[in-house]
Parts: sequence; C-alpha cells; structure tokens
Amino acid sequence: MSFLFLNREDVESLLTMADCIEVVEESLRILARGDAVQPLRSALWMPDRHGLLVVMPGMLGRAEDGVAGAKVLTVVPDNFTRGEDSHQGLVLLFDQKRGRPLALFDAGAVTAIRTAAASAVATRALARQDAGDLAILGTGVQARSHLEAMRSVRTLRRVRVWSRNFEHARRLAEEEGARLGFAVEPVSTAREAVAGADLICTVTAATAPVLLGDWISPGAHVNAVGACTPNARELDAAAVAKARLFTDRKESLFAEAGDFLLARAEGTIDDSHFQGELGDVLEAKVPGRRSDDEVTLFKSLGIAVEDLAAGRFIYEKALESGRGASLAL
Ligand code: NDP
Repeated sequence: MSFLFLNREDVESLLTMADCIEVVEESLRILARGDAVQPLRSALWMPDRHGLLVVMPGMLGRAEDGVAGAKVLTVVPDNFTRGEDSHQGLVLLFDQKRGRPLALFDAGAVTAIRTAAASAVATRALARQDAGDLAILGTGVQARSHLEAMRSVRTLRRVRVWSRNFEHARRLAEEEGARLGFAVEPVSTAREAVAGADLICTVTAATAPVLLGDWISPGAHVNAVGACTPNARELDAAAVAKARLFTDRKESLFAEAGDFLLARAEGTIDDSHFQGELGDVLEAKVPGRRSDDEVTLFKSLGIAVEDLAAGRFIYEKALESGRGASLAL
C-alpha cells in the first residue's frame, strides 16, 4: 500500500487561492448541513509556554466518498523573529470507506492558504459589495496570504499595512506591492491603518488588543484571524460589541476565542451576541449583513474540515498531474 507525500512547493502549486476559496466555502456548507465531524482541537502548551503542539482531527462527507484525517502542527510565535515559520507540521488524509492513508502533506502551506481563503469566504458573504479600502494589521505569513485573498473577492481601492516594527510593514508593502502590481502603504500606527477602512484583517500574534472599537468605521467588515487561545485577543471589547459576530465553528468560539471570551468576562457582551456560523450564513439559515452601516466581524479559529477539504483537492490534483512522491507504507 502506498500514499502520496506532497511538500510545500507541491501544495503551493496545486492549491491556488481562487480554487481554495471555493473548496473552503464548500467545506463550511457541508459542515452546516451536518455532513462533517468537527471536534475541538487539542492544544498542548510546551513546558515553558513558548509554543503549542496542536492536533486537529475531523471528517468530511459520508463514507462512500468522504475523507478523514488530522493536522498536527506546532505554533512557535517567536520563530517569526528568526525568519522561520511560526506554524509547521503535517496533514494526514485518509479515505473514509476503506480507511486507507491517501496523502501526507505540508501543513504550513495549506494553513497559510486555507485560512486566508476562509476570510475571503467571510468577506464575500458579509462585507459590503463596494468594500475595497483594506487595512492589514500584521506582516507575517497570514498578512501576505490575506492580501491575495482579499483582492480575490473585492476590488481593492487602497491597501494599508501596519506592524509594530515599521520596517516589517515597509518590506511587506514593497514586496507585495511589486508582486501584485498595486500600491500598498506601510503606516506606523494601527489606528492610521484602519481609519476609514471598510475591510480590516487582524493577522497578528498579539495577545492584547491591536484593534479598538473606537477606530472602526460604520459598515466595515473585520476578519479577526490571530488570537486563537482563550486568553489572547486582538480586539478590545468595544470592537467586538459594536459588530455582529460570526465564526467558523460555534464550539470553537466558546472554547478558544479570547476576543469573544474576554469581552464576555468583562460584561460587555453575553452569549446572545454571537450571530451564527459562517456555514449557516452561506446556507441561508442565518442572516448575514443587514445594512450598509453595520459592522460585521468574522472570528476565525481555523478548523480541520478546511484542511481536509483542501487536502482532498490537492490529492486529486496531484494524481491528475503526477506531482508528489509515492511512498510505500
Ligand atoms: P507570523 O509569525 O508569520 O506573523 C506574526 C505577525 O504578528 C508578525 O507581523 C508579528 O510581528 C506580529 N506580532 C507578533 N506579536 C505581536 C504583538 N504582540 N502585537 C502586534 N503584532 C504582533 O504568523 P502568521 O501570519 O502565520 O499568523 C498570524 C496569527 O494568526 C497568529 O496568531 C496565528 O496563530 C494565527 N493563525 C490563525 C489561523 C486561523 O485559522 N484562524 C491559522 C493560522 C494562523 P511584527 O509586529 O514584528 O511585524
């Protein structure tokens, strides 16, 4: 018996942002229809709490053609300062029917692409149609993939990027501006980045707020992507309170999302503030944006069904194109 090994270059070449947006949307719809198994992930702190080992299992679809699998990765935020990836690991994909391992592939690449694709799905569903003034807070892997994702679903008029370290913002602006062929402005404060913006992506490893509610303009849509543990937040309570709150998975929001849990603990919001899962909006079970003036917030935690859907797509494309290395068990 053999399975396919797909490295970072394989994943990046097989999974375009445009394809991944459709694949992730479909995975969230399948979840909303009840045809997926999506438990909470296990996240174990390393003994000195400098990083996490995360195990994310799940199943997508039904036995006849469904897949099962798990992403196992480490998250070491300080790697960013060393020029190394903060998210590293592997995804193992099985077919459900016979339980065969199909593929083992790089988790860093798929995480970079599918996370931004999920934000693109949220933006397409929740942002104003004319939104195009984008602010990105953060300059790491997700900042770059989010820039590509946002331009896939909205026509961008203006892009500002902020980092605590202005040189990081300047470098990202220069490199991505040249690659994508439009101006990206580095700015020195987060407030300056979001003033008047109607699309905001928070993609930092911050544990304390970098985005304040006072700064968010009416009608903006926010994708809050960092802060995936209960005690970390990128948004202050006012930012969460002023927005209609959506997420990828309710159970994850209530267990993992510091942005929500800390605002609730402070008494600014209660459980009823949560509007629904993105999949339910896509399936028209929950209303999305109701007016041009309301602020919408997609709190992304990142869930295994997105990795499995992307994995199945990559696996099928690899078989067609002959990419990857076939390894015997
Ligand atoms: P990177 O390590 O590549 O980049 C992290 C960025 O955050 C850098 O710009 C960094 O530095 C900035 N940063 C670090 N600490 C702080 C701080 N205290 N205040 C403000 N900015 C800070 O990470 P990724 O781009 O891969 O991931 C970004 C975030 O998204 C992480 O929290 C990660 O865990 C999360 N994530 C969420 C996923 C999801 O599905 N929701 C999936 C993958 C990642 P600087 O300011 O120096 O530029």
